[in-house]
Amino acid sequence: VSAAPNPAAAPPSILHAALRGECPRCGAATLFAGPVRFADRCRACGLDFSAYNVGDGPAAFLTLAIGALLCAAALTLHFTLHPPFWVHVLLWVPLTSAAVVLALRMLKAAMLIHEHRAEVREGRLTGPDPGPAPDSDRDAP
Ligand SMILES: [Zn+2]
Repeated sequence: VSAAPNPAAAPPSILHAALRGECPRCGAATLFAGPVRFADRCRACGLDFSAYNVGDGPAAFLTLAIGALLCAAALTLHFTLHPPFWVHVLLWVPLTSAAVVLALRMLKAAMLIHEHRAEVREGRLTGPDPGPAPDSDRDAP
C-alpha cells in the first residue's frame, strides 16, 4: 500500500493549462470564446470568468517583447540575405499577427489561472477605519 499522492489529482501546471485554455476550476478547455476573448463562464462547471480582471498588462508587454524580437529577426534577415521587400511583407506580417495572438492568448489564460489559484480578489475595506497613521502628527506645528 503506497501513500504517494496520485499525480493525476494534482492540478496541471499554469503553463500547460494556459496552452490548452483550461478552466482553472474543472480543467475543461472552455476558457476562450474567441482567439483572445474569454468566455463569460465555464460551459462545464459554470465558473464566472468575468469575475477575473487580467487587465491590459499582457498586451502592452507582448507588443514590446514580440516587436523587439521580430524587428531583430527582420533586420538580421535583411542584412544577411537582402531579400526583396515583398518577402518581408509576406513573412513578418502574418508571423507578427500569429505570434501576438498566440502569446496574448497564453499569457491572459496564465494570468486568469494564477488569479484563480491564488484567490486574488479586488481590494475591499473591512472593519473599522484604523484612523491616521501613528506618525502623521509629527509634521503638525
Ligand atoms: Zn470549469
